[in-house]
Amino acid sequence: MNVFIGGDMEGITGVVHRDQLTPEGHGWQAARRLYTADINAAVTGVLDEHPDARIRVADGHGTMRNILIEDLHEAAELVTGGANFRNRPLCQMQGIDDSFDLALLVGFHSKSGSGGLLHHTYVGVNIRNFLVNGKALGEIAINAMVLGSFGVPVGLVTGSSDLAEEVKNDLTGKVGFVATKQTLGPSAAICLPPMRTASLIRDGARTAVRRFHAGELALPPVPAGGFVMEVETYRREMTEQALLVPGIERVGECSFRASGSRAADVFSTIWHGVVRGLDQESAWLS
Ligand SMILES: [Zn+2]
Repeated sequence: MNVFIGGDMEGITGVVHRDQLTPEGHGWQAARRLYTADINAAVTGVLDEHPDARIRVADGHGTMRNILIEDLHEAAELVTGGANFRNRPLCQMQGIDDSFDLALLVGFHSKSGSGGLLHHTYVGVNIRNFLVNGKALGEIAINAMVLGSFGVPVGLVTGSSDLAEEVKNDLTGKVGFVATKQTLGPSAAICLPPMRTASLIRDGARTAVRRFHAGELALPPVPAGGFVMEVETYRREMTEQALLVPGIERVGECSFRASGSRAADVFSTIWHGVVRGLDQESAWLS
């Protein structure tokens, strides 16, 4: 069995503040260990069911160089390195292909404007809303569509408690959810220690594998007219830059879109547009 684990950092055990999320922050080194531990818990859960599983982990946060490979479970391989378009046209999901059977999303957060813990959608400073066919969605639902293009269903999401609503409303199939913490506000939560969350995440991964075999997971539906993905930005310049990417069209002064029949292709065009709009200013992309 081949399992793809997409990782983000805001929903990781004990992470509640920006100080833990960037290399400049004092809490980052400790948070990297917490991130790696949550990922390892998911890997262990998969191996409980399939000791010979092939597991690929994709670090999908910020610089995308957070997971400590020296502490990563030996059964996994790691997709790591900057999110610019030349490296990662599928952004957080780079490394997925149709050889995979199942995906787990570990450490995620709710969408821009939700008010949840460390909420945003991909790029907080620029993306006000990310809409798919008119509906504002967060990263877990958009990534599920990208994974769906490769025939890979999502079986587990972990993150802070406020993300449960998106799991329930925006994902299809019997997707498990593990709350690593109870959200108090955008930068505070009641957290469980890693020794507690590790067993919850491990159980969640085990259950996801069982549900996969029971046929209880599902791919997101493909709309009859295809996918229209639209980004509402905060800045007009970002839209102007994005419009230089083939396939991107203007919606309004501060918004642009792409469309097509395959979610991964449409997303990739949009991500190219987003990155183009950031090129000159973002060290973290390189
Ligand atoms: Zn992140």
